[in-house]
Amino acid sequence: MTDKILAVDDTPASLKLLTDILKAEGYEVRSAINGELALRAAIANPPDLVLLDIRMPAMDGYEVCRRLKAQSVTRDVPVIFVSAVSETDEKVQGFGIGAVDFVTKPYQREELMARVRTHLELNRLRHHLEDLVDERTVELRENSEQLLRSESHFRAYFERSMVGMAASSPEKGFLEVNEALCAMLGYTREELMRLTWAELTHPDDIADNEILFSRVLTGEINEYTMDKRFIRKDGSFVYVHLAARAVRSADGNLDYMIALIEDISERKMAEERIQHLAHFDQLTGLPNQALFTDRINRALSKAQRSNQQLAVLFLDLDHFKNVNDTLGHRIGDVLLVEVALRLKSAVREEDTVSRQGGDEFVLVLPDIDADGAAHVAEKLRDVVAHSYQVEQYELNITPSIGIAMYPDDGENFELLYRCADIAMYRAKHDGRNNYRFFTQEMQAHSARTLQLENALRHALERDQLRLHYQPQTSLQDGRVIGAEALLRWQHPELGAVSPVEFIPIAEACGQILQIGEWVLRSAVQQMKLWIDSGLEPMIIAVNLSAVQFHHPRLPELVTQILEEAMLPPQYLELELTEGVAMDDPLGAIAVMDVLHQRGIRMSIDDFGTGYSSLSYLKKFKVYKLKIDQSFVRDISDDPEDKAIVAAIISMASSLSMQTIAEGVETAGQLAFLRNQGCNEVQGYYFSKPLPAEQFEAYVRGKN
Ligand code: C2E
Ligand code: MG
Ligand code: MG
Repeated sequence: MTDKILAVDDTPASLKLLTDILKAEGYEVRSAINGELALRAAIANPPDLVLLDIRMPAMDGYEVCRRLKAQSVTRDVPVIFVSAVSETDEKVQGFGIGAVDFVTKPYQREELMARVRTHLELNRLRHHLEDLVDERTVELRENSEQLLRSESHFRAYFERSMVGMAASSPEKGFLEVNEALCAMLGYTREELMRLTWAELTHPDDIADNEILFSRVLTGEINEYTMDKRFIRKDGSFVYVHLAARAVRSADGNLDYMIALIEDISERKMAEERIQHLAHFDQLTGLPNQALFTDRINRALSKAQRSNQQLAVLFLDLDHFKNVNDTLGHRIGDVLLVEVALRLKSAVREEDTVSRQGGDEFVLVLPDIDADGAAHVAEKLRDVVAHSYQVEQYELNITPSIGIAMYPDDGENFELLYRCADIAMYRAKHDGRNNYRFFTQEMQAHSARTLQLENALRHALERDQLRLHYQPQTSLQDGRVIGAEALLRWQHPELGAVSPVEFIPIAEACGQILQIGEWVLRSAVQQMKLWIDSGLEPMIIAVNLSAVQFHHPRLPELVTQILEEAMLPPQYLELELTEGVAMDDPLGAIAVMDVLHQRGIRMSIDDFGTGYSSLSYLKKFKVYKLKIDQSFVRDISDDPEDKAIVAAIISMASSLSMQTIAEGVETAGQLAFLRNQGCNEVQGYYFSKPLPAEQFEAYVRGKN
């Protein structure tokens, strides 16, 4: 860019000479003939340099210079005086008001140009420097603002953070701690700053922390995290998650550490709780099955190593259900907790007491013989049998205890547990509030279960099953209006086996489905035969097991069997026990609805033994309640049973259901039932269950 120079001189010839020289050098030149014009021109368009004559009329060069320096736009424009004056004083005055140089007239062209060039160059440099300085200043200002900003950010973050933070150096201890850390540890800032890291750390965690820190010191690692415990001012512990990072100086040495400290007590507590949940019974705090299994396995391997005996005790509370049923679960729970405490207090430190759920406790007593185990069992019986005060109730409960001995009764826990369980049942069977050692005879009993199960597999194909029929009599007119089909099993070696014994086994092993289908088909075909042979049509009642009832194909199966036999569905009645219906009332309602749609009748067997809810009973599509024989048995003299039977009959009639009483054996029972308006009866008073031909004969004789 061309430099602009303003030349000022009141002598036109001098001015012309000056401008000519400059123009010849390639500068852009403007000229002014007096001070006034010079100022105007300079301010309007500031030049890069002013060549100024001193001696001028009206306004001399000094004055022009002073004014130029007073204006901001022209202040920095270098002024060179061009004058005849050569006195030092004059020059001093000129420099004093801001001139950069003097050229004395007459001047050498070269000298003039050298000075002009120098000052233009200097000025350019100055500008550049100033720009640089400005730039740096802006930069610096920005930087320092940013610093300020980040510093205050950091402060705020540090102070207001929910997480504890600290900076500490190995030599000087804490350099900074934030509010959150103080609050977490219960110290004031001043107190905390005086403490060391080690003083705050739980003794058990110091070693781990030291190891990590020493690796930072050696430069092996730069940061670490750990879960540790700090000690609060009040002496309690706080679980924290610590994340620490090293800040190093240029030589790599550790300057200080920055640590983030997060309170994880809640997480730890939850972890511990989960741990506890997994291993301890929530109600009593005793080891649960999982932990117990672990303990007993250890005890067993120890017994094996040292050739010792060991006892497993299975303890069940007698009639505990009554407590729950009559006083509620809350009271029952308190009682269980108290029992647990007493059991624990009665055994040695090395013994384990566990709750297996419900009112069942299992104990393992290491290093003990049969006499010792009997002694403990007696002690347990005594401590449990003492009465309990639970709120306003004084409760009494007794235990039944079964004992199995290692190694005589079994080598492993499963075997010992099973043996102790069997022995406990024997204790119950023998009158409760007692203990029994497992014996081979008990084993024989469960061996019979196995034997029956095996024999049952062949019962059908070997034609060992038969149906007997028990008449159901109307109380209105004494006619036989139905027959209940009851299963009989005659085994060549085992003899006659009661359905009370083998039906539960058949249910447990799944055989009941096949057997039940056979019963249904046989009974339906028999009724069809009877009707075809001219017997007055009546209802055939067939017992249904829970397993059959819950089988999804039951409705189709029943319909199919009826169709095969060509027996109209209204002649079939399926008996379902109350317990099964109430076990899953909604499921039962659904199945009953389907059966009802297919025209099949349902009745509820053994009614009164379960806990029917009236609201469900209303929804059950049953048309008959069978009053359980346990009530019928004593209705002649037990007022309570009388009341129950009367209530069942009136309730059934209000729900438009029929009633039939089971197990009627005497005229007295019959009279009472008749009085109460019971519809039908069934029992030995009329007839035992009979083989088909005898039943037919019975009916022909009656109807
Ligand atoms: P349940 O269905 O309640 O049958 C009535 C039981 O009472 C029958 O016993 C019957 O012989 C007996 N009984 C009838 N009248 C009297 C009486 O006046 N006095 C006395 N003390 N008892 C009487 P049973 O035949 O031994 O059958 C026992 C149980 O076995 C039945 O009770 C039923 O629950 C079950 N059961 C029998 N047959 C079958 C079957 O085919 N399938 C299923 N699932 N269960 C069956
Ligand atoms: Mg029945
Ligand atoms: Mg019954």
